[in-house]
Amino acid sequence: MAQAVLRTQVGIVGAGPAGLLLSHLLAREGVASVVVESRSRRHVEERIRAGVLEQQTVDLLDEAGIGARLRREGLVHHGIKLRFSGRTARIDFAALTPGRAVTVYGQHEVVKDLIAARLAAGGTIVFDAEATSVHGFDGDAPTITFSDGTQTRRIECDFIAGCDGFHGISRPSIDAGVLRIYERTYPFAWLGILAQAPPSSEELIYALHDDGFALLSMRSPQITRLYLQCAPDEDLGKWSDARIWDALHTRLEDTSGPRLNEGAILQKSVTPMRSFVAEPMRQGRLFLAGDAAHIVPPTGAKGMNLAVADIRLLACALVHWYASNDASALENYSDACLRRVWKAQRFSWWMTSLLHRFDADSAFDRRRQLAELDYIAGSRAAQTALAENYVGLPLDA
Ligand SMILES: Cc1cc2nc3c(=O)[nH]c(=O)nc-3n(C[C@H](O)[C@H](O)[C@H](O)COP(=O)(O)OP(=O)(O)OC[C@H]3O[C@@H](n4cnc5c(N)ncnc54)[C@H](O)[C@@H]3O)c2cc1C
Repeated sequence: MAQAVLRTQVGIVGAGPAGLLLSHLLAREGVASVVVESRSRRHVEERIRAGVLEQQTVDLLDEAGIGARLRREGLVHHGIKLRFSGRTARIDFAALTPGRAVTVYGQHEVVKDLIAARLAAGGTIVFDAEATSVHGFDGDAPTITFSDGTQTRRIECDFIAGCDGFHGISRPSIDAGVLRIYERTYPFAWLGILAQAPPSSEELIYALHDDGFALLSMRSPQITRLYLQCAPDEDLGKWSDARIWDALHTRLEDTSGPRLNEGAILQKSVTPMRSFVAEPMRQGRLFLAGDAAHIVPPTGAKGMNLAVADIRLLACALVHWYASNDASALENYSDACLRRVWKAQRFSWWMTSLLHRFDADSAFDRRRQLAELDYIAGSRAAQTALAENYVGLPLDA
């Protein structure tokens, strides 16, 4: 049926930050795309996930013309705090990585800004449309088949961007034997809440306590985001609001600082912790980006930033191909991304190992963790290493 076929240059599976940003960057250079997204617009705009943007993520969104609200409403942070053994060490980004900072701005706000920009420019995002297969990417006529609930439709395109996250269909569609998988799971998860309460600290606080990890973060001057280390299969039903606040007070407060502000809990969730990389991030004309290719535990705040970094490279490589028919940047895409991905993997694993209680914690490991935190607190060199990774390594690092 003619009406069931859409023709475009780049077919994009997934309207998370990766897929939407790719569509936006391509459109600015005159390359057409269609995005298919299995969930509704409302769902993706309200999905609470990451919220710490590296400097270069902010700069890219600005350069791409979608940074106005981010600049207005984002909270620029020049440091973070580490809390352990009843004391607090501050990592001063401004002093250690001159001119660099991170910005706290929810991922769902980035997604809203990107959707608004695409729709205002006449872009096509098909919501409530689940991609069921990707085909033909080993040749030069790839297709995406999707269902919009009433009919099955097909996108014919030159390239497919698999931006459909960890549970999408793109990565599993790559031929057996092409991908090599590197994976680590952790014996804990994060119980996260969003609370209607002003943050009790202007900066993020990462805490290691005898009861486990806790993190104080924020989404706005009125909304606090808080996390507690919990079991991977934690039953949220066992966590009353009172129990959550008790645990947060115990793990996050020290004797000298202000009390944690409590407020209505707007949302509760459990986020699993995983390190995962699929190599290479491509087969033929199918390119993987963001969580479809790699997952980091959220401790280093790298997930969305890595997705944005992948897309910067992929958008440039595709635009270059359309301008000059030169495939060298596309050929180099996977290697260029993976150099950065592995550095972010290392940092995210290190932060996670430093700040969580492990199942098999021995008294030796516990003392070692505290000694490392004490070392960081007293060493400018150690603080610099943490700071330069946290604000984000240069794109070509
Ligand atoms: C539950 C959760 C909580 C997180 N919390 C944090 C956090 O607190 N801090 C932090 O730093 N990072 C966090 N992250 C990581 C960060 O949010 C991700 O790295 C980021 O979302 C990656 O963006 P992406 O566009 O690659 O993937 P996604 O944002 O996952 O987007 C993929 C999109 O593809 C769609 N899709 C999937 N399959 C199909 C299909 N077959 N057809 C069509 N569409 C499809 C999905 O609905 C989704 O909209 C979290 C991730 C998750 C999953």
